[in-house]
Amino acid sequence: MKMEELTPHIEELKRVIGDEVDEEQLIDELNTYLNVYHVSVDAAKKGIMRKYGKETPLFVSAASIAKKLNEMTGDEKNVDLTARIVFIEEKQISARGVPKTIFSGILGDETGTAPFTVWDVGKFELTKGETYNFKNAYTKKWNEKLQINFGERSLAEVSERQIQAPERSISYSADVKISDLTEGKGDVTVTGKIISVEPKAITSRGETKTVQTGYIADDTGKVQFTDWNDRKLLVNETVCARNAYVKAWRGVPQLNFGDMCEISRVDAVFTNLQSGVIEREIAEIIKTGGGLDVMVSGSIVDVRTGSGLIKRCPMCSRSLLADECVTHGKVEAALDLRMKIVIDDGTGALTAVVKRDCTEKLTGITFENAVALSKQTGDQESVLRAMEEKVLIMNVTAVGNVLSDDFGPMMIVRELTERPVNVIAEAEALMKKVEGSM
Ligand SMILES: [Zn+2]
Repeated sequence: MKMEELTPHIEELKRVIGDEVDEEQLIDELNTYLNVYHVSVDAAKKGIMRKYGKETPLFVSAASIAKKLNEMTGDEKNVDLTARIVFIEEKQISARGVPKTIFSGILGDETGTAPFTVWDVGKFELTKGETYNFKNAYTKKWNEKLQINFGERSLAEVSERQIQAPERSISYSADVKISDLTEGKGDVTVTGKIISVEPKAITSRGETKTVQTGYIADDTGKVQFTDWNDRKLLVNETVCARNAYVKAWRGVPQLNFGDMCEISRVDAVFTNLQSGVIEREIAEIIKTGGGLDVMVSGSIVDVRTGSGLIKRCPMCSRSLLADECVTHGKVEAALDLRMKIVIDDGTGALTAVVKRDCTEKLTGITFENAVALSKQTGDQESVLRAMEEKVLIMNVTAVGNVLSDDFGPMMIVRELTERPVNVIAEAEALMKKVEGSM
């Protein structure tokens, strides 16, 4: 062990033993324990303290240092803190299939708040509102948020100092409207109305678990949520979810009600609940990465390769390259009709995939027409060209979900209709824009 690693232990010994023994001697004795007797640092310190008639202090924690919450990085292995219990509750969890009781809650000091977990509940009792000196905690980062953990080695004693930690409400970040939820936001408070909820089986780390998922809406939008602990949410009730967090799936933000989340039923009334389709500008969608049930209006500026008659795997519906499915190998291909179009609304452009019925409706080319046309010309491209003729520069309104992948946002279209253009209004809008930029 290097000298600088010994220093904190020497400091601790000096604190306990006092001035009776000089530092040189302590170093010497510690070295003997460690390098001659080959005992652990803790055992060495205990031995030395005993030798000088000192009881082992309550907290033998050489490497632990005290920190404020805002100084913690999330990888402290042994840290002390003085904090007030803002909120605490008992929880039943399953640790590798074995039921276990833990405490979880929120603690705070002058610099902030953080969620905490007591993994060994026999260890100490904590009371809400009380300030404690905690020793030997460790920290982690979860969803970009600091988490304080108290394990087997941790200790707590009531502090003489009372911290005026903010009441529970401050530990939660400000209220966030649903349309402002973005990937990675932890600790949000969302108030909304439950539009739908249903159980869903998921597999996490080899364990199957049933969670509740559905949609929640406010007056700015709606979002899919997952309730990880069944809180018996009901359709049409309005709830306030504190300490929820956001994760995105293929660019679409999703709201999660995890262990830290607290849900209360509230009386809020939304005068303009956005539980249905929301009209948005493409630039805005690109910025957030996706969205559910969005409506965009613009011109079709391209009909891309992959439009027209395509071959699909009869088992998984994937489109095929040379009659081969990536999963099912060589298969008897099933023909399908679709379009991949690019819609531009002046703020941006996105690719939209249009399934068979919408394609037939907009182009007037039925699946049967398309099959006949490609047989007649002996060329599948002919269908694509026929589509181009019908829909290029057409003004449309498309409704669907926009997901993102490596190729950017893509709308899976559910409805596609030609939009009658009000030429005068559009010209006036354009003039305004031009004037505005001059
Ligand atoms: Zn397949």
